[in-house]
Amino acid sequence: MKQTKSLELKDFYALYKEDDFWMMKETHWEKDLQSIREAQFALGNGYLGTRGILEEIPFDSLPGTYIAGIYDRIGSQVAELVNFPNPFVFKLTIDGEKLDISIMKILHHERILNMKKGLLLRHTLYQDSKKRKYDYQSLRFVSMDKKNIGAMQIVFTPLDSNCEIEIQAGIDTAVWNVSALTEGRKKHFKIKDIDRHQNARCLVVETLEKKYIVIYWSGFYYETGNKKIFAKDDTIVLKLKKNQTVIFTKIFYIKHLPYSEYTPKVKEVLFKKFYRTFHANFQDILKKHIKIWNLLWKKAEVFIEGALHIQQNLRFNIYHMLICANTDNGFSSIGARTLTGEGYRGHVFWDAEIFLMPFYLFNFPEVAKNMLLYRYKRLDKAREIALKNGFKGAQFPWESADTGTEETPEWARDINGNIIKIYTHKMEHHITADIAYAVYKYYLVTDDEEFMENYGYEMLFETARFWSHRLEFTRRKKYEIRHIIGPDEFHIDVNNDAYTNMMAKWNLLTAYDVFFKLKKKNPDLLNKLKRKLDLKEKEVRNWKKKASLIFINIKKNRLIEQFDGYLRLKKPDFIKRDENGIPILPPHLSTKDLGKTQLVKQADVIMLLYLLSDVFTTKTKKINYEFYIERTVHKSSLSAPICAIAACECGDLNRAYNLFNVALKADINNLYGNTRDGIHAASLGGVWQAVIFGFAGVSIKKEKLQINPRLPRAWRKIIFSLFWRGALIKFEVSNEIVRIRIESKKKEEKLEMKIFNRKYYLSPNKLYTFEKKKKSLVYYYY
Ligand code: BGC
Repeated sequence: MKQTKSLELKDFYALYKEDDFWMMKETHWEKDLQSIREAQFALGNGYLGTRGILEEIPFDSLPGTYIAGIYDRIGSQVAELVNFPNPFVFKLTIDGEKLDISIMKILHHERILNMKKGLLLRHTLYQDSKKRKYDYQSLRFVSMDKKNIGAMQIVFTPLDSNCEIEIQAGIDTAVWNVSALTEGRKKHFKIKDIDRHQNARCLVVETLEKKYIVIYWSGFYYETGNKKIFAKDDTIVLKLKKNQTVIFTKIFYIKHLPYSEYTPKVKEVLFKKFYRTFHANFQDILKKHIKIWNLLWKKAEVFIEGALHIQQNLRFNIYHMLICANTDNGFSSIGARTLTGEGYRGHVFWDAEIFLMPFYLFNFPEVAKNMLLYRYKRLDKAREIALKNGFKGAQFPWESADTGTEETPEWARDINGNIIKIYTHKMEHHITADIAYAVYKYYLVTDDEEFMENYGYEMLFETARFWSHRLEFTRRKKYEIRHIIGPDEFHIDVNNDAYTNMMAKWNLLTAYDVFFKLKKKNPDLLNKLKRKLDLKEKEVRNWKKKASLIFINIKKNRLIEQFDGYLRLKKPDFIKRDENGIPILPPHLSTKDLGKTQLVKQADVIMLLYLLSDVFTTKTKKINYEFYIERTVHKSSLSAPICAIAACECGDLNRAYNLFNVALKADINNLYGNTRDGIHAASLGGVWQAVIFGFAGVSIKKEKLQINPRLPRAWRKIIFSLFWRGALIKFEVSNEIVRIRIESKKKEEKLEMKIFNRKYYLSPNKLYTFEKKKKSLVYYYY
């Protein structure tokens, strides 16, 4: 597209667009992509998430402003993440004509998400009905430094003539939660107070259930030449000369509080906080924000040498995990679509613990801890759920929001868009073992004994207790779990789903183990816990007995039957595959019919082989991988990354690479057709796991770290770091060479690790190089 000379001269934010491989770009305006871009270009800081809307709010735009952990249930089947008023609105009218990308002629348009610095940049050249051109550039961010602050700058220049512009830059309350099924759009808040003070707007809203108050302060000023003028109202009118550039800066502050804590005094206290930033130098606010981003990337960066585009896409996935990472003492966890959209109404699933958590655990353990605290704080609710269903112990809800009660709706849409009855809350019980698994993983990786003492042991015992009651002793003289849904949701109400049975068994055995270890290590604590939970040693011994009798259907040829009768179901006919090798389902197959076939929605037995990797031999893994991969249709974004890891382990590297690419681009290319509802959280975490545990070949075997890389051919090296028991381990790996440096304060402690299948003891603060060919050669520098 032709650009004017003046436009090229004035790239105000060129400084932030320098390294292409840290950017995600939109190079032209395409109406149909609008809602997808809004999710992809979202900004956030864990506390706040905002969709990447265009600030003029074009027709069909879906602004989304979410606060982690704040839900409301009035008017919907179940609690929903509340969509709050939008502070990033900025509407500009020129001589009565609205500057709007969906109305005016657009001569140039680009938006850039700078993933390194957490900035959204924009440059649009508009032409109005009189063919006059306007240069419009903007930069916005949600501060990583001060989590209640957001900022936006707009640089506006009329290029052809003088004009009068009207600006509306308040806080937009014309927002709603999108319609779910037949419920229609709804607002989950109402306005409580609107006020103005010292050139700033105050907006106070309350959620309909009157649980929370959210207070906004916002204001803007403009600079032209050397003058800085604070706008006296949300709406102002300005006269501009041809080529006169005006820079608007809008700052806002958002904070929630429990309903009962609100007094008008709070408004004043928060005003002071806002005021400091409002009057601070914009560049300083920006610099502090960027500084924190630099620190985040220093920990989280995974550098892939030899694959720049993969690298860029991987950054997109990591970026999205960084903007939803939070530490709020367990007030919130991360929903299935992060804070970028309203898919699954913001509910928290096993996606959080099994898919996302490993990224945080190995990079930001405090975020992983927060996710587990979120569960712990709702343990009483989980106890209630168990009791209601006739069990003891704690049963976590399949979908969770603020209170920890079961939030799965009774109705939802299936993969074909039909409205169907939902059974997951009644039968998809594996989440309870998944959470226990995450607790133990956290313990294993961090050694955080204090966490275990205060929360973790209790969670392990209460979940084990649930399973011991959930099991049924049957004519087989075995313990069975009947009427269940495994990860593969195509098959509903089955018996003895291998994934669930094995994870339950793992939960029981692990709880048993830690109980007796604790008995030796800290009997006082154990006694305290026994009293608190009314737990007797006999009960714990019984867990082990029951675990050993849990029915697992492994055939003589080592094939694990996914559930009772699975192998008798209809074998899949020849299935066409798309360009990524993903099977295309015959269009006539309804969800019900799928259940009559061996087609599997997502990694199920394969998921089991991955999570309980220690339990299965390589041969068993291969047999099952080869059988199930042919039947798995990846109709959930959770599937491809895990299958990619399994493929790596089974030496099926081409398929691993294809599946990895599918996962990598799940939201970049809107592969599941619903990115508009938010970024798929599980896929983000799955992608990271596929790089680290798949290609880089890191694994934990018998509670020890090991590494055995199997990089795709085009990748020369992967450079990354992992936290492990208080130390930071830096890796640089190729298929032939592994370099390791452990940074640790405990200088004398050696780390046992297997590298290329050989055991070593590594000292901290030395650089080790291991070569695959010269197996015995190990050398290091001081
Ligand atoms: C998947 C679940 C997942 C949920 C939320 C479903 O389609 O089958 O495993 O937890 O989506 O992402």
